[in-house]
Amino acid sequence: MSKVKKKVKVIKIDIDKCNGCRACEVICSAFHANPKYSSNNPARSRIRLIREPLRDVYLPVYAGEYAKAECAGRDKYVLDGKEYAECDFCRASCPSRDIFKEPDSGLPLKCDMCEDDPAQEKPLCVQWCLNDALTYEEREEEVEEEVKMEDVEIGLESMVDKYGLQKVMDTVARMAKKE
Ligand code: SF4
Ligand code: SF4
Repeated sequence: MSKVKKKVKVIKIDIDKCNGCRACEVICSAFHANPKYSSNNPARSRIRLIREPLRDVYLPVYAGEYAKAECAGRDKYVLDGKEYAECDFCRASCPSRDIFKEPDSGLPLKCDMCEDDPAQEKPLCVQWCLNDALTYEEREEEVEEEVKMEDVEIGLESMVDKYGLQKVMDTVARMAKKE
């Protein structure tokens, strides 16, 4: 496999600095609303807070890859005297919980680093985090060229899981006829 240069974008999360204000959820969901900024609903956010104020637990988690099935992992982690479930750290849109799913369609959500707006120098959640719990870094790395599963494929895969391949194919055929 050949090597290519790739810009690696990293959002560093310092959970000690997060106070659970949820500004990151507000701006992410507003940015991804259709039309943009027409609403804000944290259920549409690609960053979610695992939030338990009574235990002083505030854990921002970014939406990652879609997972077809839930995993068996149910370990517990104790960090700085606070207990976390394994799922708390998980970035997957998976069948075992409600987060990282578009509330209307049930389609999986994934953080896109706000890339569809080149005017943004930094991801919006980072800009809106006034406590510096989220910080942004960019670096260049040489990586092996990979065949990336595009978002559209991930969406299609989850629709096939939900409605079955035949139904999805029938719908596509019907849409093609209308064009
Ligand atoms: S980087 Fe952009 S898309 Fe990702 S969680 Fe933050 S605001 Fe949402
Ligand atoms: S904006 Fe920053 S401080 Fe507020 S909840 Fe999000 S990560 Fe935490």
